[in-house]
Amino acid sequence: MYDLASPIMKAQFNLINKSNQSIKLSVDVSDKSSNKKDLKKYSYNKICIFKYFIDITNSKYNLKIYLEKISKNHFNKSVLGSFIYDNSIKYSISQISINVSNGVDINALVFGFLQKDFIYSKYKVNSFLKKYKTNFKLSNHYLSLLNSINFLKELVTEPSNIIYPTSFTKKTISQINKQNVKVSSLNKNQITKIGLNCLLAVSQGSKREPMVMEFIKKNNKKNVDILFVGKGVCFDSGGISIKPSGGMEDMKWDMAGAAVTVSIIKYLSALKTNFTYAGIVGLVENMPSGNAYKPGDIIKSYKGINVEVLNTDAEGRLVLADIITYGCEKYKPKLVIDFATLTGAIMVALGQHYAGLFCNDDKLADILYHSGLDTNEKVWRMPLHDDFDKELNSPFVDLKNIGAGRYGGSVTAAQFLQRFVPKNTKWAHLDIAGTTWKNGGDIMNNKGSTGFGLTLIADFISKYFKN
Ligand SMILES: [Zn+2]
Repeated sequence: MYDLASPIMKAQFNLINKSNQSIKLSVDVSDKSSNKKDLKKYSYNKICIFKYFIDITNSKYNLKIYLEKISKNHFNKSVLGSFIYDNSIKYSISQISINVSNGVDINALVFGFLQKDFIYSKYKVNSFLKKYKTNFKLSNHYLSLLNSINFLKELVTEPSNIIYPTSFTKKTISQINKQNVKVSSLNKNQITKIGLNCLLAVSQGSKREPMVMEFIKKNNKKNVDILFVGKGVCFDSGGISIKPSGGMEDMKWDMAGAAVTVSIIKYLSALKTNFTYAGIVGLVENMPSGNAYKPGDIIKSYKGINVEVLNTDAEGRLVLADIITYGCEKYKPKLVIDFATLTGAIMVALGQHYAGLFCNDDKLADILYHSGLDTNEKVWRMPLHDDFDKELNSPFVDLKNIGAGRYGGSVTAAQFLQRFVPKNTKWAHLDIAGTTWKNGGDIMNNKGSTGFGLTLIADFISKYFKN
């Protein structure tokens, strides 16, 4: 009754840590929709993606899936894999065989399964970071995307005694395909010489020395099409304006913006691209000490703008200000996208389901918005306006590092960054403080780091540079 017409593609998964009993699951996926009565609907945000039926015969589970005729975007294709994964866990399946009909993208399906299966549980006894292994060979694109997401999750999850500026740099260098991308880094002396003073000020309370990493696609011209910029605060205690102790452990992932940036570069370095790109990340720790920068300090930024520090916990924007200026001066990009776990205020506004998008170009914002929906790494556009920008003015210095009152903290942070973006350069700032980490996981990811940002940008690039 449920036989599929000519199932040709197959994938198989086996439990790595074999249990005593062997429970099998057989999955058939058809690209033809079905109106059979006994099917259940799998819907997300009120849209039915597929219908399915699961039964058990001779102690073997059978799952039949019928795809609806809807947009075949990345999310709709790969969520199939995470659905199969969730059911495999639910029924303690040890062996899964998957058959799909012609019109089903089995690469996307296997990718979705493997993305959901990964958990960076390195410090647990007998952990393999995943439960299943597969015989299926992913396409180059999906394999590169998966490896880059897992690397991103690793960076974000490792604590700050393992990942700090110099170890972040060392780990990242080994991950980039140097045939396609030139990697370089600046140490404290070089950073001092260049004059990235705001970045230096943030780092000066820590014993760990700061680093800046730069990446550029090889054999490109002077002006790159796109520059990625990432905030890499490897631990953010708040500094002298110290944070409350509850939940402070989360501040090990205040470097997620830098992690997304280098993971994008890793992903791109494995592929051929029809555009040129560069990347820059600023890596520091924000710590209190006798040498730390203090509220009231005035620092001359690399751009020459004098910045008054009114809160040492508003440090991400100081790091970004200098590397945005320096990166734009050096690589002259047409478009800049920066990533930062910048403000707690963005979580008040959008929760954990959308990242905040701040953008000076409507078309760019529109493409990012649609890539967000198509990958389920969703972004919501927030305002930029001189009314907010004014809050950063002071009678005494060029620029304050926080706004006037308690409200709109994500917007004033973005306004601060915009002061350092060259005029006529397209720019998007993604505040990923709410979306980077989810204790309970989400529809596509296991518990912990979500890898937010990479799949979004992979999709964005395919749309923006389509020709
Ligand atoms: Zn902070």
